[in-house]
Amino acid sequence: MADWNSLAAGQTYPPGTLYVVATPIGNVADLSLRALHVLGLVDAVACEDTRNTGQLLTRVGLQRPLLAVHEHNEREAAERIVARLAAGERIAYVSDAGTPGISDPGARLVEAVRAAGRGVVPLPGPSAAVAALSVAGDMLEHGEGRFTFVGFLPGKPKARDEAVAELAGLAHPWVIYEAPHRIGDTLAALAAALPARRLMIGRELTKLFEETPVLLAADAPAWLAAEATRGKGEFVIVVEGARRHAGGEAGEAGDVPDARAVRVLELLLPELPAKRAAKLAAAITGAKTDALYQVALSKKRGGGNDGDD
Ligand code: SAM
Repeated sequence: MADWNSLAAGQTYPPGTLYVVATPIGNVADLSLRALHVLGLVDAVACEDTRNTGQLLTRVGLQRPLLAVHEHNEREAAERIVARLAAGERIAYVSDAGTPGISDPGARLVEAVRAAGRGVVPLPGPSAAVAALSVAGDMLEHGEGRFTFVGFLPGKPKARDEAVAELAGLAHPWVIYEAPHRIGDTLAALAAALPARRLMIGRELTKLFEETPVLLAADAPAWLAAEATRGKGEFVIVVEGARRHAGGEAGEAGDVPDARAVRVLELLLPELPAKRAAKLAAAITGAKTDALYQVALSKKRGGGNDGDD
């Protein structure tokens, strides 16, 4: 087996520098060889939660002095870290999980270190958003490779619904994070506002009960309810962008069929081929045939019981 320490050492790690290190989002084996090398090399590891980071270091066989940096002491902690860097130390910063600064603290410390004229070096690694996008398939392609990172939606229903309505107009996919206590409300809100959009739900990524279904937003609440334990765990959701017209224009949110049109389509699909069902549902509800046809195809791909084309 290769000597990973010498592989990672093929770069210099200057003193007086802050190393911003991504850590696993579940599976400890996702800690990179370079992260291991640098965490073993630094004089101290600054972190969000010393207990959490202490456990991670113990699991990989490292012991390092830990410095707590949280929102209540961020300014003073940053000053202390800058002073230690000025004295020639190397310091790492890690958040609780994933990449610092991505829906996580880290930005202010980086800013303070830069302002003091000290170096800041990123050590890339896991991030739930990027992991989810990597298995979002053609959603990215349809968005011409673009995406918007949203992070957590507002907690209050009105603000959340307004944010969803605004994001619905994007032609490319968007990525949201959600906590277990709010996943039910968020999926219900997406189902109500954008029933015909596909979602890629990344649940418990890199962990034992990992799931990555692609389904219509209209079907997401039922998916969540289908297993009692499903609402537990961590979630990242990729929402596909507004559909494209045949002419290549980005569709507006209004082109996406509403819940009633999708329901009519669902009733027709077992009786008719997908194209005819879409046409008829469009005639009944005023929704666009193309958009309903896409929904019909998605339902078919997801194991729907529509007829042949
Ligand atoms: N900095 C992290 C990153 O780079 O992904 C994100 C930190 S944010 C405080 C935590 C949120 O990220 C969770 O509530 C969840 O939405 C998402 N997340 C983190 N780990 C995850 C996992 N293993 N599977 C799915 N989502 C995850």
